[in-house]
Amino acid sequence: MPAAVHAAGFEQVLLQTWEQLHAADADTRAVGLLQAVWPQPEAETWSAASLGTRDAALFRLQSALFGPQLHTLTQCPACGETLESQFDCAQFTGEGAPTPVPTALALREQDWEIEFRLPSSNDVVALRDAAADPAVAVSALLRRCVLRLRQGEREASADELPTDLVVQLEARMAASDPLADLRLSLSCPACATAWDAAFDIGEYLWESLDDWAQDLLSEVHLLARAYGWREHDILSLTAVRRRFYLDLVQP
Ligand SMILES: [Zn+2]
Repeated sequence: MPAAVHAAGFEQVLLQTWEQLHAADADTRAVGLLQAVWPQPEAETWSAASLGTRDAALFRLQSALFGPQLHTLTQCPACGETLESQFDCAQFTGEGAPTPVPTALALREQDWEIEFRLPSSNDVVALRDAAADPAVAVSALLRRCVLRLRQGEREASADELPTDLVVQLEARMAASDPLADLRLSLSCPACATAWDAAFDIGEYLWESLDDWAQDLLSEVHLLARAYGWREHDILSLTAVRRRFYLDLVQP
């Protein structure tokens, strides 16, 4: 475990966030974790950030808390061989502190002029119920993400967009926010089959945090039982001292 987690007070912040988000859905967890670690003045900022911006920040958080290496286990779709792969978070993140910036983009095609923004966690949560029917979900997403639409001099509504433009707009959104649907290129050492596998950094980070929190609470349990100390006092110990006492309890 890298030193970042053990910084004074930060451990408690993380543990509290883990507890608060325990029963939440994946998107609420992702946004809640980022707001806890990199608080923004506006509560809505992370939930309104594009999915790729949000996920780039989650890669940074994973790297800062648990180290840069990601380990994945996948089954080859052709021969069933289990493939163990390693990736580095730095492959997926930029430099500097993560900042969620909602950006307006434009697409001009034929006589159409479309101003739009990229899909965010807010959109995913709002459209979850519509997702059963892909056509309904796409038009609901466009109604949310198209900010302004004109055909020639006329203001138009997102429902009027011709199908070929809807397809172009979806492609533009995907190209402008590549991390939103991250796929890892894998290749099987046994049969040489190559394929792309989806990778969800939100899920990966949550699992890392869940393992960490459970280990930490197990340590609290052992020390509380051995010494009769209170949870708060055990969590206030530095990691070095806690390790020392644990070694005495469990040589
Ligand atoms: Zn294979």
